[in-house]
Amino acid sequence: MTPRGWAVLTLAGLVVALVVVAVLLVPWSRPPAPRADQLAALRDLPADEVAHGRALRAALRPGRYTGLVVGLLAALALGLTPLGGRLIELAGRPFGGHWVAQAVLGGLVVVLVADLLTLPFAAWRHSVLTRYGLSTNGWGGWTLDLLKSYAVSAVLGATVLLGFYAVTRLAPRWWWALGAAGAASLVVLLSFVLPVLVEPVFNRFTPMEPGPLRTELVNMAARDGVPVRDVLVADASRRTRAVNAYVSGLGPTRRVVVYDTLLREATPAEVTSVVAHELGHAKDRDVTVGTLTGALGAAALVVALYLVGSWGPLLRLARVDSIAEPRAFGLLIALVTVAGLVATPVQALVSRRVEARADAHALALTGDPATFEAMQRRLAGINLADPDPPRWEYLWSASHPSTVERMAAARAYARETGG
Ligand SMILES: [Zn+2]
Repeated sequence: MTPRGWAVLTLAGLVVALVVVAVLLVPWSRPPAPRADQLAALRDLPADEVAHGRALRAALRPGRYTGLVVGLLAALALGLTPLGGRLIELAGRPFGGHWVAQAVLGGLVVVLVADLLTLPFAAWRHSVLTRYGLSTNGWGGWTLDLLKSYAVSAVLGATVLLGFYAVTRLAPRWWWALGAAGAASLVVLLSFVLPVLVEPVFNRFTPMEPGPLRTELVNMAARDGVPVRDVLVADASRRTRAVNAYVSGLGPTRRVVVYDTLLREATPAEVTSVVAHELGHAKDRDVTVGTLTGALGAAALVVALYLVGSWGPLLRLARVDSIAEPRAFGLLIALVTVAGLVATPVQALVSRRVEARADAHALALTGDPATFEAMQRRLAGINLADPDPPRWEYLWSASHPSTVERMAAARAYARETGG
C-alpha cells in the first residue's frame, strides 16, 4: 500500500475513534430544560439588566464577525495565492533562503501578518468592553497582554515550525504519520504544562487564604471524592470586572482556580456553588477527555492536511510543488482556518453538554438550587451576558448553556427533589 493509502486508512481510523469518544463520553442524554421554563426565568430577571447585557453583546457583534471574516480572507489570500509563498521567500532571503529561516521566520511572519490584520478588531473590542466598564485594563495593560501572548505564540510557534519542517524533510513520504503523532503528543504535553508555564505569564496565582470558605471548599471536594490540593485565586481584577472560575491541568498540575473578582462580588455560598461546578469537571475527567479529543482531532487534522494538500489545483493556486515545503505554510494556515471555522459549532455543542453535566453535578453536590440560581443571575449581571442570546449565535459559539437554561435547570432540580 502507498503512503497515501495508509493516510486514508489512518484518517478513517482517527475519525471513527473521535466519533466513538463523542458518542460514549459526551453526555448527550440530558435534554435542556423546557423552553417555557427558560422564558419564565427570563421574565424574572431585571429588565434593565437584560437590556444592558444585550446592548453590550450587540455592540461587540459587528467587530467580532467582521474580524472573523477578515481573518478568513487574510488566511485565504495568504494560502490560495502566491502571496504567502512570496512573504516566506522574502523572510528567508537574508539567510540565503535556508529552509530553517523560511520555515521559522517565514512561518512567524505569515502568522504575524494575519494577526495584524485582525488587530484593529481586537482593539475595538477592548474599547467597547472599557466603555461598558467590564474591562479594567487600560491600553497599557492591554498592549502588554498582547505582547506577552505574541511572545508565547512565537516561542511555541517557532518550535512547532522547526519540528514540523524538519520532519517533512527527513520523511518526505511519511511526514504525515510522524506529524500526526507529534501533534497529538503536543496537545497532551500542553494540557500538562500550560497551567504551570503559560497561565502565570498572564496572572498571579495565590493559594486561597485559610478560613471558613477554604475549609468548606476543601471538605466539599473530599466529600465529592475529588481531592484538591489547593484552591488558587487568580488576580483577574487587574484586567476585568468579570467573575469566573475554572479547572485546568492534568494529574499533578490539576487545579481549581477562582477569580479574585468572584470572591469579592459573590457570597461564600455562591462561590461554593461555582466550585462545585468545577469539581464536576474534575470528577467527570472533562480535562482528560478534552485533551484526548484534542489529541485525536490534531492528529486527524495533520493527516487531512496531507491528503487535501496533495490536490493539484490547490498547489497551483499557491504556486508551490508540495504542501510539505515551507513556502506552502500559507496554504496550511488557510486550510487550518477553514477547519477551525467548521469545528467551532461542533466544539460549542459538545462544550455546552459537558457544562450542563457540571451544572447538574453542582446541584446534586450542594443540594442548593436557590443559591445556584442566584449565582447564575449574579454571573450574568456582572459579566453583562445576554441571558438568552440569539439562537444562531448560541448554536455557532456558546460554550455554556445560557443563563436562562441554567436557571431553568436549577428550578427543574428543585421540583424533582422537592427542594
Ligand atoms: Zn464549567
